[in-house]
Amino acid sequence: MTDIISISARRLAEYVHRSGSIDARIGSSTALLEGTRIHQAVQKNYAEGDEKEVFLERKIEVDGNHFHLEGRCDGLLRKQDQIIIDEIKSTSRSLQDIDAPSPVHLAQAAVYAWIVCEKEGLEKIDIQMTYVQTITKEEQRFIQTYTAESLRSQIEEMIRMYAPFAMLIKNLIVKRNESIQSLTFPHAEFRQGQRKFAGAVYQTINEKGKLFAQAPTGIGKTISALFPAVKSLGEAKASQLIYSTAKTITRTTAEEAFSLMADHGLNMSSVTLTAKDKICFQEKTICQKEYCEFADGHYDRINAAIMDIMENEQQMTRPVIEQYAKKHRVCPFEYSMDLSYLTDAMIGDYNYVFNPRVARKRLAGEQKRSTVLLVDEAHNLVDRARDMYSAAIQKAPFLALSKSDTAPLLKKAAKNVNRAFLDIKKKCGEHQYAMLEEIPAEWKDSLLHFYEQAEEQVKNGAADEIIIDLYFAAQRMLHVIESMDERFYVLVEKRSSDVIVKVICMDPSLFIKESTKSYRASVFFSATLAPVQYVRKMLGGESTDYGVAIPSPFNKEQIDVRIYPISTKYRDRNHTIKEIVRAIKQGVEDAEGNFIVFFPSYRYMQSAVAEFQLQVEPGRYELLIQSINMSEEEREAFLHSFKHEQRNIVAFAVMGGVFSEGIDLPGNQLSGVAVVGVGLPQLNPERDQMKKYFQQQGHNGYHYAYVYPGINKVLQAGGRLIRTETDHGILLLIDDRFQTSLYQQLLPEEWRGQKSIQNP
Ligand code: SF4
Repeated sequence: MTDIISISARRLAEYVHRSGSIDARIGSSTALLEGTRIHQAVQKNYAEGDEKEVFLERKIEVDGNHFHLEGRCDGLLRKQDQIIIDEIKSTSRSLQDIDAPSPVHLAQAAVYAWIVCEKEGLEKIDIQMTYVQTITKEEQRFIQTYTAESLRSQIEEMIRMYAPFAMLIKNLIVKRNESIQSLTFPHAEFRQGQRKFAGAVYQTINEKGKLFAQAPTGIGKTISALFPAVKSLGEAKASQLIYSTAKTITRTTAEEAFSLMADHGLNMSSVTLTAKDKICFQEKTICQKEYCEFADGHYDRINAAIMDIMENEQQMTRPVIEQYAKKHRVCPFEYSMDLSYLTDAMIGDYNYVFNPRVARKRLAGEQKRSTVLLVDEAHNLVDRARDMYSAAIQKAPFLALSKSDTAPLLKKAAKNVNRAFLDIKKKCGEHQYAMLEEIPAEWKDSLLHFYEQAEEQVKNGAADEIIIDLYFAAQRMLHVIESMDERFYVLVEKRSSDVIVKVICMDPSLFIKESTKSYRASVFFSATLAPVQYVRKMLGGESTDYGVAIPSPFNKEQIDVRIYPISTKYRDRNHTIKEIVRAIKQGVEDAEGNFIVFFPSYRYMQSAVAEFQLQVEPGRYELLIQSINMSEEEREAFLHSFKHEQRNIVAFAVMGGVFSEGIDLPGNQLSGVAVVGVGLPQLNPERDQMKKYFQQQGHNGYHYAYVYPGINKVLQAGGRLIRTETDHGILLLIDDRFQTSLYQQLLPEEWRGQKSIQNP
């Protein structure tokens, strides 16, 4: 049988026609959902008989090799006897600046046009490029007629240029699949719970489903999720894996799992994505050829850089990407993003999957349908997604700009925005806040006008950093306003002489659902995915989706749980602090080893530190105290202290902070943990609004807005204690609410049946 190489029209066009430099002066990113909406708005005006989202495919032989071209064209329009291929592109550039279609866009449309000519026996066909400005929704069209013959020779030429790369990818896939056939689980045996979790992942991929899995610490969940997913690649059920995480540390765990499988013979490529500002080679991330040598001519060198790394590397971690990016003088961030469409696996932050501004928009169609999405620490995604879909903007910089000597029109526009802020501030009356269901039209119009004026400056290279920042802030706000519906509200907040307008997304579940819907399968997992109906709802799941709760591999004897029924409510804190510290002191003495105490806030933590210092003799313990904005080195030093021989550390940290999740202190590095409070988020108008919203949706609003997010923090913090089957320790739960039936139900099985200690 002749080997056929599949090529997507978009990838072919990009590979052959991208050239020149990166220029991020004009943000060209359109949010995925927004892009879809724009496409749909254009397609709605198609005439009867016109077709939209038409899947097209055709085989073609070039120089004795066989290729299969495919893609989805936006519109196939029929005007009398003429057929028009309509290709829609949304752009945040001003339409006046687009005087001709981009060669990449035209080449993609040319593939569709040729396929239609072949299928319908046409001699000529029209290609229409439709550009839509994302904010103003203005449209601009370019239309041109092509002969079938000219299209064929253009496509043959493109394929000749692409063929060596296509062959390389094909050979890599063959090698990968062979290695997967013989790959066995990279540990001597499945640990308790591992087989059940791995089996559930495998079944979910088989059945193209969605899985919500509570996979406790200690079962080795990363390898349990990755191994069956890798196997599905070898069985041609999927073509790519995404391992999506909230934290750098879990990305490293995924890299280690791939390394381990590579040691067992796996021959598969993976790339780790690092945030742009972290991996950028320049002091400031100004992606223009005048400033950055890596931006200058990036696209002229990118194909060679991709070929080189794909030929020579399997695990493309940050240092590997940096090394090859320097060698080929390409931008390391854009390079890694390009690679993420080609490698067998991508490891990266949630942003690359869920953030409408950062998500990899080129992952679409067939490639997305054959991709498996694994979402680690999924309990973090709810709040992260809320932030991704919300925006905030301040009045002060507009006032400052209106008084500066910037361009007169921009100055006037900034003045108008400032005035609009003063108008919206009136909604607060005597109060500090005002909640609105909609954004006032005048406020939005003034911001839009400012955005257009700022764009002129940015485009001409006349914008300074302040203008660029305001330009992007306005762009983000305008995009969020576009998505507003009953799941959002507007918060106007007075802060001394300043005003802040926030558009807040309370319920991101629909966005998460939209982002995940076309994947082959999605697996959401975490040690604390409870209560399951809440998590499933918040992560865009349906009651028909799969759910699995893996029992903890640890037993009750490993953990001595003590409840201290002491009030930690705000109003009681001053008079209960002594009692709380006595309880902590008792726990520390009994644990006879390192101890961490988690508090709901820094201020509360600091008052406990002061009281602790009064109650214990000086120098008896080594105190470690978490501070706000610790550097990476400071965090490492904090954790490194637990490895000392002498086990007398008492660490004070904040629940929900960097030390309450994702850190591993196995063995006798940690002998006790105290959790003070039930982790409730701070009472504020934002949370109250959320409570109201979920109540209206038929849920228990208080539980959704406060109790469930809080208990997740408690479980994560307490979960630091027992990390292996041989660990032992004391867990103090300090709050009278832990004794209520609501909280008892929310605690894990191995924490139940605790001792309750009165009057420490
Ligand atoms: S190296 Fe930095 S400044 Fe240069 S293009 Fe890349 S991200 Fe932009």
